[in-house]
Amino acid sequence: LASKLQDTLDKLKSKGRLTEKDVDTAMREVKMALLEADVNFRVVKDFIKKVKERAIGQDVMGSLTPAQQVIKIVNEELTELMGKEESKINFASSPPTVIMMCGLQGAGKTTTSGKLGGLFKKKGKRPLLVACDVYRPAAIKQLEVVGEKLDIPVFSMGDKVDPVNIAKAGVEHGKKNGNDLIIIDTAGRLHIDDELMDELGNIKSEVQPQEILLVVDSMTGQDAVSVAETFDEKLDVNGVVLTKLDGDARGGAALSIKAVTGKPIKFIGMGEKLDQLEVFYPERMSSRILGMGDVLSLIEKAQETFDADKAKELEQKIKSQEFDFEDFLGQLQQMKNMGPLTDLLGMIPGMNSKQMKNLNVDEREFVKIEAIIQSMTRKERQNPDLIDGSRRKRIAKGSGSNIQDVNKLLKQFKETKKMMKKFGDLEKTMKKKGKLG
Ligand code: GDP
Ligand code: MG
Repeated sequence: LASKLQDTLDKLKSKGRLTEKDVDTAMREVKMALLEADVNFRVVKDFIKKVKERAIGQDVMGSLTPAQQVIKIVNEELTELMGKEESKINFASSPPTVIMMCGLQGAGKTTTSGKLGGLFKKKGKRPLLVACDVYRPAAIKQLEVVGEKLDIPVFSMGDKVDPVNIAKAGVEHGKKNGNDLIIIDTAGRLHIDDELMDELGNIKSEVQPQEILLVVDSMTGQDAVSVAETFDEKLDVNGVVLTKLDGDARGGAALSIKAVTGKPIKFIGMGEKLDQLEVFYPERMSSRILGMGDVLSLIEKAQETFDADKAKELEQKIKSQEFDFEDFLGQLQQMKNMGPLTDLLGMIPGMNSKQMKNLNVDEREFVKIEAIIQSMTRKERQNPDLIDGSRRKRIAKGSGSNIQDVNKLLKQFKETKKMMKKFGDLEKTMKKKGKLG
């Protein structure tokens, strides 16, 4: 979605007031991009109408280009479409809190049950996982393996007992054992059927969960949205977890779900690993879809791994563009503790998943980069402009690489900085208008 949109928006060069023609051209592209991203047609139509109404005739703000102005409006409306702010879990006023997971087979219920347990365990809760999928072969075992990995207890009664009874007994068990968060993993089906809905309805009325989370697979696009609609009609869910967003560059489901069902996305699954669950922030998703990247998530992830002061320093540096090779090196070293590089790179502004695939990130490449930076002098790291031809030769030799590698790194670094600057400027102007921060 991002790059084509960017092209069109870049063409909006005229200064002053946004004309109907400016907005029309841009909106045609936005519309195409949204439809290509598999966003629900009704949603697209409403969306375009809303943006147009807002945009036409607006003064272009002093420090923004017309393109930025349109992006800003599109960004705000996309955010609004997805629910404005993050939606939290309803915790019971007197524990335990019971969360019931539901969704089609393969959507990611079992994985997400574990991920949620892990997430809240980190925040000091004492979760219990309850295995209510008695149909899928090895479903109970799967949950037990997940529980073991996370060191979270799993309650099961085998596959000969009625799921409703298991759920009830699981909650009792949790109460007795001081678990303040009980996550019920239920069965799914390949398609929605009445039997499944009845079973889920019965579990719901038996255990009265504070929270019913519907798990949907983002890769199924529009289908994800209609699945969400049906489940919600039957069960009146509290929110949605959108899984496999790591594999869905288009983000169509993310955009339509709230608009169609009225229920917010609360979490997103970003990979198969048990720590790859993130709180859903509409504004970040919107920026990500628009290709502005996700500096905020990057910073947050960094904060979790290395200490807050360092992250703050980095954030400051990114904002003021003082970022140099010293920081870069430090960051590379931190990154090793921060999970797969592809995760992180995806959050850098301007990188979309297509580019990422082309990049084909190779961890060995980073060892090389590290070696190159280590072969620079301190002065060179702080001021890369110093690095002329002969210095490049020396650095290449010192790091056991060749001059092309050094050139490539210098070029990439420059471009990254440029992108950071772009983002920083935009943020500054938005801040001035009181939109961010
Ligand atoms: P369930 O049938 O709804 O319980 O689904 P599972 O939890 O068994 O997940 C089905 C498959 O999807 C498994 O292979 C998971 O590893 C995978 N999966 C779940 N969530 C994600 C995610 O966010 N990203 C990716 N890439 N895979 C996921
Ligand atoms: Mg399962």
